[in-house]
Amino acid sequence: MRLPFTLLIDPVPADSLQHDFADTFHEMDSSAPALRVGELSTQRGDGIFETLAVVNGHPQEVEPHISRLRNSARICELPVPNAEQWRAAIAYAVSRIPQRGEIALKFVLSRGVEHGPAPTAWLHAAAAADFSAVRADGVRVITLDRGYPRGVAEKAPWLLMGAKTLSYAVNMAAIREAHRRGADDTIFLTTDGFVMEGPTSSVVLRIAGEYVTPAPSGAILHGTTQQSMFDYLRAQGASVDYRDVTVDELRRADAVWLVSSVRLAVSVVALDGSDFPADQALTDALNTYLLARTA
Ligand code: PLP
Repeated sequence: MRLPFTLLIDPVPADSLQHDFADTFHEMDSSAPALRVGELSTQRGDGIFETLAVVNGHPQEVEPHISRLRNSARICELPVPNAEQWRAAIAYAVSRIPQRGEIALKFVLSRGVEHGPAPTAWLHAAAAADFSAVRADGVRVITLDRGYPRGVAEKAPWLLMGAKTLSYAVNMAAIREAHRRGADDTIFLTTDGFVMEGPTSSVVLRIAGEYVTPAPSGAILHGTTQQSMFDYLRAQGASVDYRDVTVDELRRADAVWLVSSVRLAVSVVALDGSDFPADQALTDALNTYLLARTA
């Protein structure tokens, strides 16, 4: 019952007939060395990951996260993860960490050691940052050019757009650029002016009363939190849609949210230096709903 918590995993093939995975992962001291110097995840960022929230002992959206990990593996031509094994590893980790509060559980699949025989994998749990202030106050956002046109995923699949790879250096640089410009976060645009996603979040807009998010066509991630948000909105009788969204629509939207697994929903309160309207009552209701999820 302690944090941080680390589990090393021996990935088994997706089609393995094994059902008991207890001997395929082992706990290790989080402060002890765990990776070899030749690890391609650290040398090249050549691997994929997911981060889910564990709230009061409940891991949230396990299946959508495992299925996105499997999709990222397919895009990156990594061995497709065995869903049952990852479910078992997550369940084991959750049973070994505190059952109160918000915890970020990250799981990683790397191509392994250069010329090595197998991929490496691990799972790491740490206390989540305290996001209560940003959930209540919102974020100031700038738009930044992502440098690619719409449709890039189809034209250049080797860019691995749509896979959640470990190469987040560009995403982190975009957040630093936001800070330099006196903002908190970023919304990426295509070179031809379409809204993509944030560096660590999905973008949801309310336009003329309808909730829309850019279609996860291959250039952006299909956010698990955005999907939960749409479930909530549908249950409230609201209309939701996946479609292309232009930067002009973004600027004229009634309200915009950045949503992600651990920070959850935050209102955009300023866009490119100008105040932006927010629906904080809905943000609060959304976060209450998101925090109460038990699966
Ligand atoms: N897009 C990017 C680039 C992300 O890194 C993330 C989450 O980290 C998301 C979208 C939101 O995904 P989720 O809601 O599953 O956390």
